[in-house]
Amino acid sequence: MKDDYGRHIDYMRVSLTDRCNFRCRYCMPEEGIDMLSHREILSFEEILRVISVAVKRGITKIRLTGGEPLVRKGVPGLIRRIKSIEGISSVSMTTNGYLLGEMAHELKESGLDRVNISLDSIKREKFQHITRRDGLEMVISGIDKAIEAGLSPIKLNTVVIGGTNDDEILDLVRFAAGRKLTLRFIEQMPFSDDNRDDFISAHEIKDIIAGKFGTASVPDIDESALFKGFGPSEHYRFGENGPVVGFITPISNHFCSRCNRLRLTADGKLKPCLLSHDEIDLRTALRSGCSDRDLEGILSYAVDRKPKGHLLNSDIFERSRGMSKIGG
Ligand code: SAM
Ligand code: SF4
Repeated sequence: MKDDYGRHIDYMRVSLTDRCNFRCRYCMPEEGIDMLSHREILSFEEILRVISVAVKRGITKIRLTGGEPLVRKGVPGLIRRIKSIEGISSVSMTTNGYLLGEMAHELKESGLDRVNISLDSIKREKFQHITRRDGLEMVISGIDKAIEAGLSPIKLNTVVIGGTNDDEILDLVRFAAGRKLTLRFIEQMPFSDDNRDDFISAHEIKDIIAGKFGTASVPDIDESALFKGFGPSEHYRFGENGPVVGFITPISNHFCSRCNRLRLTADGKLKPCLLSHDEIDLRTALRSGCSDRDLEGILSYAVDRKPKGHLLNSDIFERSRGMSKIGG
């Protein structure tokens, strides 16, 4: 599918649940969250139907996310069925890694192609402060099991929070390099009540890494690769033979012009843009006997509604659902 701005949409992020076994400060409050009921979330059958129709409209890559996708039962079976849909070229997942230790091999066998694992700290107490869970050991064991299972390329995603984990930037770079993994720093987006003042830009993070390893190279952004579905990150090598580090910069450098994705929330809403309120209800259509043709029409409509760019930096930006309810 091509949108009005010439962007080729071939990638769909599918949120399997709004539930999570963590409570990361920038994503979810500790308490008082209204969770979707079983009836409200799309069944696997419904998700598979949407994907099989989306494939006809040119979607070839699926990323499973959440909430935490691995807290939903039966995910390996779902992956197997998605992989069997003709036209799907890859199925990947974004996870907090807590349950990966026990599931990595089964996920690999089910056909999962690769995995992104979120890791904001390698210090136990700080990890616990950020995620509000004592889970560092489990996550590191999950990362190592994912490597062992061959779920590569594995990427680690780190959200840097000023005054919290910005002192660990170099340690995290070394941690990833030691395991030959790609690390990407994500700029924090203002989704929770207490994260408007602790923003650290990718520029500041780059300076810290360059101070240790040497100047950053020209970024490696292969536009054609991006249009083919690679993530909206820019990768830099620091120094002659130093580490390669990625940056995802929704705040300081919009990647909207390269956005190739649609999002499906756990309750069956299509989101043309992560950072807009706009949602198109697919669940009602799915549950009222619509034809595949109708579904194709709704998908095309969602693509047509993709805005040219988001308003995150402007005064008129209003938060949409929290990240755990969208899927990041
Ligand atoms: N639970 C999984 C995980 O944490 O990887 C998948 C869902 S999570 C919403 C997807 C990604 O969004 C994670 O890498 C997380 O760090 C990121 N994220 C969540 N809230 C964010 C925020 N306010 N700003 C930037 N990234 C955020
Ligand atoms: Fe859960 Fe991921 Fe949100 Fe953290 S970022 S609370 S792990 S959904």
